[in-house]
Amino acid sequence: MIRLHNSKTRRKEEFRPIDPANVRLYLCGPTVYDRAHLGNARPVVVIDVLYRLLRLTYGAEHVTYVRNFTDVDDKINATALARKEAGAAGTLEELIRARTEETIGWYHADMDALGALRPSHEPRATDFIGAMIAMIGDLIAKGHAYEKDGHVLFRVRSYQNYGALSGRSVDDMIAGARVEVAPFKEDPMDFVLWKPSDADLPGWESPWGRGRPGWHIECSAMSYELLGASFDIHAGGIDLQFPHHENEIAQSCCAHPEGGFANIWLHNEMLQVEGKKMSKSLGNFFTVRDLLDQGIPGEVIRFVFLQTHYGKPMDWTAEKAAQAEATLRKWRALVAGIDPAPSAAPAVIAALSDDLNTAGAIAALHQLTDLAELKASAALLGLLEDGLGDWAAAPQADLSGLAEKLAGLRAKAMETKDFAPVDAMKAALVAAGVEVRMSKAGVELLPGAGFDATKLEGL
Ligand SMILES: [Zn+2]
Repeated sequence: MIRLHNSKTRRKEEFRPIDPANVRLYLCGPTVYDRAHLGNARPVVVIDVLYRLLRLTYGAEHVTYVRNFTDVDDKINATALARKEAGAAGTLEELIRARTEETIGWYHADMDALGALRPSHEPRATDFIGAMIAMIGDLIAKGHAYEKDGHVLFRVRSYQNYGALSGRSVDDMIAGARVEVAPFKEDPMDFVLWKPSDADLPGWESPWGRGRPGWHIECSAMSYELLGASFDIHAGGIDLQFPHHENEIAQSCCAHPEGGFANIWLHNEMLQVEGKKMSKSLGNFFTVRDLLDQGIPGEVIRFVFLQTHYGKPMDWTAEKAAQAEATLRKWRALVAGIDPAPSAAPAVIAALSDDLNTAGAIAALHQLTDLAELKASAALLGLLEDGLGDWAAAPQADLSGLAEKLAGLRAKAMETKDFAPVDAMKAALVAAGVEVRMSKAGVELLPGAGFDATKLEGL
């Protein structure tokens, strides 16, 4: 029995699929204008573990997992427009298509490197514009939306349960949120379903003129097309709970009152870096590709993520990455050449079934002594799989000689009071990507991010 914490009811519930022969799961996917940052990868890894657990429980062919690509968005338009202004050849539509294709390719490569299984469906918003127009027309017909000056807006006060997911009243939300007041809105809370496009923006013909959809309607239309009016689990980052998920619920439940939209809402908490919010202004903002390019294996990133429960904020630190790498190296050496056992260890399955307790599952892996069982159990977490490559088999640099030399220089500097040789050697090591740890106990050198053994020559 799988139990999951449902954001909608704010408690842990037994998971009972609507149809065990077709368990349905939806995750809000990326807006494809740039590389995925590290925080974007957290829900993908979390939901990948859920997907694996559901496949194990109900059978791989009985689980449908949908994750969309938002390929119509003002940031994408701006990126393409900047390229056009810089002299790139092609129409704006072609430049947009090229940018989104390229970004989807990056996204796949990065998520594959993290060991995330590809979903059953990866719908692109631009392939579902017709479904969105139909849904918007239906909402207007039912009195839940209205057209004004080429815009179509959702009438928030027409849906009584608005705010139930995040536990706020509409009036509280108006007081607290940055709602946009616009002349075409009946009420500041109303949100855009459709907006007009002028000639230099991508647009589609609609009953309300040439335009493009708002972001929220996308997930409602695509989940309905691919999963139906009711499905089992809707997941995403906690930052999407309001307004995105509230708006999805309002649109879907008003357009399809016969369905219940998502039964369970699963929200992951945010990611920090070394205890601080990741932001470009703090200089601690990085993409998944940045880490991979620094030589941090995707499996290590995955392991660090899974050490923290999805419902808690997760702190990415270089220290955790180094420890994860050491653990995975040890395990990979142990299970090399060993065939996995037919099933995962009961303790690992039990931990994951308890609201995806990945930290508990990893603790259980540490207790396993049967290596075939370790390999089978780790696979349920997407770890120690052959597909992630044999990065751990590459020989590690032996830095003990250099550590001894640095310790000797330091001992000498204590007497001469000339620390210049120590500083020079430290700087050369850091430049080669070596982490230098000097304490009273001694000198420790660890190959860190971007380690390059060729730069150690001559030291
Ligand atoms: Zn969504």
